[in-house]
Amino acid sequence: MPKSQNYLGIDIGASGIKLVELANVGGRARLVTYAFSEYDSAQPIGQIIENTAEKAKELNTDGVGLLRTNLVVEETGNHPYFYYIKQKREQELIDILANGIMQIAETFNPKPVWIRTMDFSTDELSLYNKGEEEIVESNPLLGWRGIVRGLDQKELLSVDFQAIKKVLDAGYNNIGIIFPMVRDVSEYILVKEALLGHGIKPHVDIKVGSMFETPVAAMQIEDFVKSGLDLAFVGINDITQYTLAADRTNPNMQQVYNPANTAVLNLVYNVLETCKYNNIETTTSFLSPLKKVLPELLSRGLVSFTLQADRINEIAELVFEAEKKVSEKI
Ligand code: PEP
Ligand code: MG
Repeated sequence: MPKSQNYLGIDIGASGIKLVELANVGGRARLVTYAFSEYDSAQPIGQIIENTAEKAKELNTDGVGLLRTNLVVEETGNHPYFYYIKQKREQELIDILANGIMQIAETFNPKPVWIRTMDFSTDELSLYNKGEEEIVESNPLLGWRGIVRGLDQKELLSVDFQAIKKVLDAGYNNIGIIFPMVRDVSEYILVKEALLGHGIKPHVDIKVGSMFETPVAAMQIEDFVKSGLDLAFVGINDITQYTLAADRTNPNMQQVYNPANTAVLNLVYNVLETCKYNNIETTTSFLSPLKKVLPELLSRGLVSFTLQADRINEIAELVFEAEKKVSEKI
């Protein structure tokens, strides 16, 4: 493991738990690596959290880079809207979520834990208990999900916010919040107003960030910065898909789906450079084709990548080498 590390974060996701390690080059934190452990749906969330904590200890992690609340809801098997909210059982979900977040916040306290609000696609939700009431869309990847759904169905967003409020009220000030599938900056402004409506002052009571996984958001990065931004998370999986109009889940589109495509990279660089200039933290998920642009990503100001555990050492070395190249140039 490279010695330059001074910051480690974890990405806890719907499909797994990822650890991220950041190093410091030229006074700015930069990623070295991420680890990953498979999400086992047979395991209760408490067990997953315990395993994460163990793994975190092993890898000397310094925080959680991304905790998807999807993961906690997934563990219940129940539709967040039709099972909990529609049946007036939302307090149960708020408590489950708050407990899950609190366990993670406690495990890593005082290290940072970034929480992402719900981002289920309608086809995913249809598989949950009461999911038969979910709407059917012809293209869920372009459909009603993330922040658009949260702003339409405010009770859904409210569940995440109330859970986070409970965690804040319990005294955990090491948590931050990130919003998924944001397009226009107006959505970001609205969602922060909704946060304030729940008694949580953005950037004061809690750090606030956004996913940059749609081209439109990446093109509006300056507006996001102006409206207040603590973290820009570049969702490379989705920004590739939406820039190239290539379904990330479709094997026939894999030859088109290229995160190192110039158009995708230009959007990513736009986010990174603006954030670097404004001293805003950045992170990104990772896909193999990015390997060849590691020095470029670092010199443009990237702080972290997301990797899978089986590649942790390989990518750690590559990023470490890339960091050296960047620091030689400085
Ligand atoms: C991404 O799009 O890269 C991302 C991190 O979000 P998700 O994998 O949940 O789509
Ligand atoms: Mg995404």
